[in-house]
Amino acid sequence: MKPIGAFISLKALKEYGNRLLEEYGIEYAHTHLPVFPEEARELYSGVKCLPENFEKESYGDLKRLLEELRRIGLKIFASYPVFSRPEIARRGAEYSAWTILGKPHYARACPTNPDVLRRIVADLRSLVKLYGVEGVILDFIRFESPMAGLDYFLTCFCPSCCENMRSLGYNPVSIKRDWLRMLDFLGKGGFPKEIVKQGTLSTPDVLDLYNEFPGVFEWFKYRSEYIESVVKIFASTVKEEGGRGTVVGANLLSPWWSLLAGQSYRAFSRILEIIEPMLYFDWMQWEGLTAVKELSHAYGVDKNLLSKFYYVATGLSTIVEPRNYDESRLSGLPPASIEAGLAKISYWNIGGARIWPVVLILRTDIVHHLLNERISNISMATREFFVESVKSAARGNADGLVYWNFDGAEKDVVRELYNVWRAESG
Ligand SMILES: [Zn+2]
Repeated sequence: MKPIGAFISLKALKEYGNRLLEEYGIEYAHTHLPVFPEEARELYSGVKCLPENFEKESYGDLKRLLEELRRIGLKIFASYPVFSRPEIARRGAEYSAWTILGKPHYARACPTNPDVLRRIVADLRSLVKLYGVEGVILDFIRFESPMAGLDYFLTCFCPSCCENMRSLGYNPVSIKRDWLRMLDFLGKGGFPKEIVKQGTLSTPDVLDLYNEFPGVFEWFKYRSEYIESVVKIFASTVKEEGGRGTVVGANLLSPWWSLLAGQSYRAFSRILEIIEPMLYFDWMQWEGLTAVKELSHAYGVDKNLLSKFYYVATGLSTIVEPRNYDESRLSGLPPASIEAGLAKISYWNIGGARIWPVVLILRTDIVHHLLNERISNISMATREFFVESVKSAARGNADGLVYWNFDGAEKDVVRELYNVWRAESG
């Protein structure tokens, strides 16, 4: 059977850890582990933004728990949220990402800030050293996505990042200029309307956009190039501390959105052993909503038009008919979207990384804090739907399967999915 992993909290790991493998078939527990700088002082020398300390006693308990679980065959992957770091961003504007308009991001650390990078390297080393984990999964190893809204999406333009762009041959001034011009262009509505009418974003349209707004394309290229360079550094860091056998993987946005945030499947596949694309049937279609809402608010252009536009522009329209704004936030893609995502990733996987899609097995119904509106998958998220999702991952030839997440899922459904995967994955 191809392996199953799951994201699971430490609390649930304590409660279910000894049953995960036998009862649910889950071999790879992905969990957030706290770092203890006082246990690994030498790794943190020179780091200015040190982590907060946890109680020493809980460290001992945690280490014992992980050792116990390992003895019964469970493998532990430390999930590490690289640049999504509210606790670092809060320490001051010099540590946080800045938007194109100069606003500090409340939750994103600046990806080029040397202190932030030193801290990340120290954390990665310390996770491997303290816990001897089987692997590290780099999460949020990317720039911001459109779901954070236009302003936050257009990060980081802090002095350190602008300097970094220049050093790699990019011009932050023309990038900013072209982005602001392209927002005006999109805001007029004529272009989105034409693309929705055509039903495709064709080569002539793309070349025309490139001629008009080359800085926008340069910016996407810069994002991918920079992220690739840090993936290399962080992967080497983990290997150096843990040895060649320590696995390094990453969670990537779905292939419809990944390049917008600087994640190139091609590049990641050459560096990492495991790629875990987040093929969440709902988030794959929700990802553009906040940017749509903000653009509509700023320019008065119809948000249903902009919503349909992104289905066409990203290629989601090859899976479903382009949807209105409200329909988008209150539904998700069909299970076959997982297979479609895997097919796209497969031709980008030039490095031969193992692809373990993360599939969603939760009902979600929340008010999103940036969209400031309800998003919900409950119209679709049934037991049958999750079964079909797992079958779709198997049909797409996934090398493994990961659940998001164990804590929130109904446990008898997780048991059933184990049987489905066992029967379907070969
Ligand atoms: Zn920056």
